[in-house]
Amino acid sequence: MTIIAEGINRLVLERSGLAPPKLSPEIVALGVKEVIKLSKEEINDRFNLDEDEGLAWVAAGFPTHYLPGGAFIYTNKEAITLGIVLYLSYGYQLDAPIHDLIEEFRLHPMVKRLIKGGQLLEYSAHLTPVAGINAAPPKLYGNGYLVTGDAAGFLLHLGILIRGGVDFAIESGRVAAEAVTKAHDLGKYDEESLSVYTKLLEESFVLKELKTFKNAHKVLIEPRLYSDYVRMINNLLRRYFEVDGTPKKIGSTFLESKGKLTLIDLAKDAIRLVMNL
Ligand SMILES: Cc1cc2nc3c(=O)[nH]c(=O)nc-3n(C[C@H](O)[C@H](O)[C@H](O)COP(=O)(O)OP(=O)(O)OC[C@H]3O[C@@H](n4cnc5c(N)ncnc54)[C@H](O)[C@@H]3O)c2cc1C
Repeated sequence: MTIIAEGINRLVLERSGLAPPKLSPEIVALGVKEVIKLSKEEINDRFNLDEDEGLAWVAAGFPTHYLPGGAFIYTNKEAITLGIVLYLSYGYQLDAPIHDLIEEFRLHPMVKRLIKGGQLLEYSAHLTPVAGINAAPPKLYGNGYLVTGDAAGFLLHLGILIRGGVDFAIESGRVAAEAVTKAHDLGKYDEESLSVYTKLLEESFVLKELKTFKNAHKVLIEPRLYSDYVRMINNLLRRYFEVDGTPKKIGSTFLESKGKLTLIDLAKDAIRLVMNL
């Protein structure tokens, strides 16, 4: 039995003819990540955390030069992790190398002070699936093999949030072991005996969640979510909270802030988001 758990760079699947020969840019994003060492006391102080608390922030707009994707920063026990994720199909529109983006994010005044004095422990770049179940190879099982984790497209990339990835990888690995045990009881590891793998996945949270969000990527790849909407929210908050001696009403401030977005765009996007997320 072979459990194919090779991650999103699925060379084994591709070279065995079990997945299309090349990943298409629409189904992946590129992530660049830094892990920066700081003491527990510094982290808790800077992020206003109590013992055993953690924190994760995401940001959209500026970090990716207003292209689809986002930035993240989260605390570990004795390190801060920060990074950028960019939908690869928009990479060609980027006016700078992606490693410049993480540099700019790290040097942003809001971020710089959080990691001041820290020591870089890890720097990595990795693809990540963004199309969920749509990025799966045609078959998740066959004679003598099962596919798990990122290699199977088991990741929920919800715009600037990665909801599942590690947990789907762990659970699909557990389910694969169960499927192999059942095939072992039957005494054969052919496609028919291993078909129990998809049945078990469907009973687990993995396929339930991935199927629920199967169209999410089509909505979340919409570029205006990361440009016009980010600018609208920034304008709205700035105008509303600016003390300039004029009375503010949310409705009129909103209309002044929406920039290029039309009311029809707003209604259409709201419906698509509610229907698919
Ligand atoms: C920037 C970024 C941020 C992320 N943030 C989150 C997050 O906040 N939450 C979350 O849940 N997930 C997150 N993820 C996703 C998560 O990392 C993956 O979903 C998860 O690691 C998938 O696990 P995996 O075991 O399937 O694949 P991988 O972790 O990619 O492991 C595959 C392993 O197989 C090895 N390998 C490949 N080919 C071969 C071969 N032929 N022979 C032997 N070994 C091989 C590789 O070297 C690798 O070690 C993030 C990913 C990125 C890139």
